[in-house]
Amino acid sequence: MKPETWVQMALLTWFVLLAIAEVLWAKQGGEQDKRTGDARLLTNFGLTALILAASALLPVARITSSDLAGRLHLGVANLVQVPWLAAFALLLIVDSLAAYWVHRLMHATPVLWRVHRVHHADTAVDVSTSLRNHPLELLATVPVASLVVLLTGAPVSVVLGVQAAGIAAAIWQHADIGLPARVDRALATTIFTPRLHRLHHNPERAVHDSNFGETIVLWDWLFGTLNRGEGRQPVGLKGQSLRPDHLLDQIWSPLFADRSASGATPAGP
Ligand SMILES: [Zn+2]
Repeated sequence: MKPETWVQMALLTWFVLLAIAEVLWAKQGGEQDKRTGDARLLTNFGLTALILAASALLPVARITSSDLAGRLHLGVANLVQVPWLAAFALLLIVDSLAAYWVHRLMHATPVLWRVHRVHHADTAVDVSTSLRNHPLELLATVPVASLVVLLTGAPVSVVLGVQAAGIAAAIWQHADIGLPARVDRALATTIFTPRLHRLHHNPERAVHDSNFGETIVLWDWLFGTLNRGEGRQPVGLKGQSLRPDHLLDQIWSPLFADRSASGATPAGP
């Protein structure tokens, strides 16, 4: 089996395990969002299918960049001998920094927000929210991710590993599970926990313009956007004119300027 297939199977298993954890947590009396049922799941998985189909471009672009960097001896890992783990850590750090700024820009720029708000429009947050993204987001993320691979000169196996870690982290931080406070606090010193990421889905712009990181909390901490908050936060967007649980409405929603009640001022720390 190709390494890509192993990675896909591992991610699918991770998704299913966290979905089961959500059900168990709900049964144990965990707080739940007000979900609107099948229409929401259809919208989330419809958008997930679209972005997965479109994002076939992402590994192609990244692996091509990795090949190109190797052939042209570009990037750190092609200029000096770097062990696999060091190349993995380097790409993870640089990639997470780039992703932080792309995400922050998507909140700060009205035209990019029109595309990114599809993710925030979800009326609940759980594993099905993880890949609820408009396919147009790839126009912002693919070129940046490819440039990062070129600059770091990461080999293909490292590119695959970092990509898988990013998707696993996205599924994890959207999972609707409550961790014991002590575990949450310990993990939140390094990575985003589901509770921390819920703050990023708060309907108020003053709150959701924070916690932009997708894996590590380092960049939010460094650039002053880390919000540790308290307790379980509400989620969704205020004042939406389009139906958040309607697949077609969400697909064409970037055509509409409605910034919702969360405002259109630039994001700030
Ligand atoms: Zn966001």
